[in-house]
Amino acid sequence: MAKVYLPLSLEELLGIISDQPAVRIFAGGTDLMVRLPFQGVESPLVCIEKVKELRVVEESADEVRIGAATTHSELVSGGLVKGLFPLLREAARHVGAPAVRNMGTIGGNICTASPAGDTLPPLYIYGAEVELRSPRGERRIPVEAFITGPGRTQLAPGEVLCAVVMRKDHGFNFNHFEKVGQRKAMAISVASFAFAAAIGAGGVVARARCAFGSVAPTVFTSRDLDECFAGKPMDGDTLVSAAAITREGVRPISDIRASAQYRRQVAGNLVRRLEETG
Ligand SMILES: Cc1cc2nc3c(=O)[nH]c(=O)nc-3n(C[C@H](O)[C@H](O)[C@H](O)COP(=O)(O)OP(=O)(O)OC[C@H]3O[C@@H](n4cnc5c(N)ncnc54)[C@H](O)[C@@H]3O)c2cc1C
Repeated sequence: MAKVYLPLSLEELLGIISDQPAVRIFAGGTDLMVRLPFQGVESPLVCIEKVKELRVVEESADEVRIGAATTHSELVSGGLVKGLFPLLREAARHVGAPAVRNMGTIGGNICTASPAGDTLPPLYIYGAEVELRSPRGERRIPVEAFITGPGRTQLAPGEVLCAVVMRKDHGFNFNHFEKVGQRKAMAISVASFAFAAAIGAGGVVARARCAFGSVAPTVFTSRDLDECFAGKPMDGDTLVSAAAITREGVRPISDIRASAQYRRQVAGNLVRRLEETG
């Protein structure tokens, strides 16, 4: 049975990492504890759920900083996230079922780096950055650069993801998140779609950003796709073009949940469905 540490502060956590470089970090354990029995690893574990600095959601004049051990349930109930980052709240609402949302954290969702991680498309849309700490120092990088492939990140040995930071001035006044799964709850996505736009007078889109989950090795975004909305109303013609760019750009795989062809079709359909929500 592996030894488990339960630090109460960031200082204590970094001390444990310094003394035990092989220690494995976990927060809710909803990903790690599922994999652990198959990995046969006996290294000590450190649970960060009680580290007070990692559980705060705070705002400054320009940014909101969400502690990595914030659970999905806390993202759903928190006023700051609801008011400023509605896509992130909506995505968190779609994670698993209540028990998983009560334990699973935003930091765990990012570090797992699954193409199906529900909070990731909104984080790409808001240009989120991750704050990383280790006994050697601190760095901050965009989440897009942090995630390098399915299950792969830039997290260095001994590093902890401390927080996710997002700017408040994104200017989006239209938000839409949709997840397609094999059932309504407790379902990993077959495809997911986050969309945000700044829509001006007369319903013309000034700026838009799209991000998809489960249709490429990491979250799929496309400059061509975003630009195809600019200066146009969100009508049938715009959405037909946007859906075609989407189907052209995505790189889905076939797995037990869906075929690549189905995912490609659904990704385009999700864009087309914006017409019903606009
Ligand atoms: C039944 C079930 C249903 C699920 N449904 C969904 C779903 O619908 N959508 C979805 O996106 N996910 C789903 N998941 C996956 C999981 O719940 C989420 O990814 C969750 O956000 C993981 O958070 P966690 O705190 O439990 O991660 P953990 O299991 O604690 O950690 C996951 C990984 O991240 C690392 N890690 C965690 N926190 C940090 C940190 N702060 N710094 C450095 N490394 C860290 C750990 O070492 C581990 O490798 C489901 C899981 C289960 C078991």
